[in-house]
Amino acid sequence: MFEKISLCFDSNGCPNRCRHCWIGHKSNEIIEKEKIIEIVKGFTKYANRIEVYSWIREPDYSDNYKEQWELDNELSVNSKPQRFELLSFYRLVRDKEYINWLKKFDIKKYQLTLFGKEETTDYYVGRKGAYKEILEATNILLNNGLLPRWQMFIYKNNLDEIDYILSLIESMNLKERCLKNGGEFEFFIHTGSCDGENRNNYDQWIEKSDIKKIPKQYFIGNLIEEKILFESLLENKETAKLNNNNPIFYIDNEFNVYPNFSDMSEHWKLGNLNIDSIENIIQVYSENMSPAQYLRNNIPLSELVSISGDSKSNKLFTENDYIDYLVNSYFINMYMNRKDKKI
Ligand code: SF4
Repeated sequence: MFEKISLCFDSNGCPNRCRHCWIGHKSNEIIEKEKIIEIVKGFTKYANRIEVYSWIREPDYSDNYKEQWELDNELSVNSKPQRFELLSFYRLVRDKEYINWLKKFDIKKYQLTLFGKEETTDYYVGRKGAYKEILEATNILLNNGLLPRWQMFIYKNNLDEIDYILSLIESMNLKERCLKNGGEFEFFIHTGSCDGENRNNYDQWIEKSDIKKIPKQYFIGNLIEEKILFESLLENKETAKLNNNNPIFYIDNEFNVYPNFSDMSEHWKLGNLNIDSIENIIQVYSENMSPAQYLRNNIPLSELVSISGDSKSNKLFTENDYIDYLVNSYFINMYMNRKDKKI
């Protein structure tokens, strides 16, 4: 019996196809309310508290976002779903009611993501018009007493656009406008983790020599060169054990269930609710039986890095993100070597 289980359903999808998306580019399908109710019911005997979220991808994307929020609250057991500093910028620029609804929550700041100029941001968000919408969303927040926080994901091919974002912050007068709304404007730059869709950006991953192009005051992440991580993990005979307390389960629109450890790849899958019982899914999770969980818990890091790491690479990672990258690489290389090449 767990203290808490969080159940997060991809019940509507997302308008974007971001190139850094850890979830992946799944199709947008609706998960019916009745199905969500049935699944939540099935999990209740495994935890004292259940938190329900009807979204994994962009929150509030669906037209019935208010009903969905009510349903999440209704279905949660001995707990309430949280609101985060996240919103649907797609909805914010299209639905005049949405900003008033957002104002009811005790959240003052909302995060928006830019990648550089218009062309670069549209490219990385995977949708033409995204850049303009993000700027418009920023203005809507500020005109309604709220605060935007901007983050920028950094790669080799947008390093030269940091200055553009900084000049945009100035020209939109964001610092002063935030102060008027009672808070500070926040901006930060980071790499994200190299999994999900972002793994495809490995060739563009920044290296130590690129750091000098990033103003220190905006850059977050304790990054180490891959070749240094390689050397230190090569000496490490321990395994990268996972913490299985209070699970967060991600349920996609085909009813596959994944743990909240890395991305939603086949090797992390715990089972499928159309085929497997909830008891089996809980067992796979608790006993680390999915292939990726098994690998992390049983293969020493020294072995894992010698199989999947690159001893010459200058690319930068945090140690934890690098271990996930190694685990995912192990399976992706295995799929690539299979004759049928099917994942
Ligand atoms: S990163 Fe977020 S907004 Fe972008 S595609 Fe993924 S879920 Fe949607």
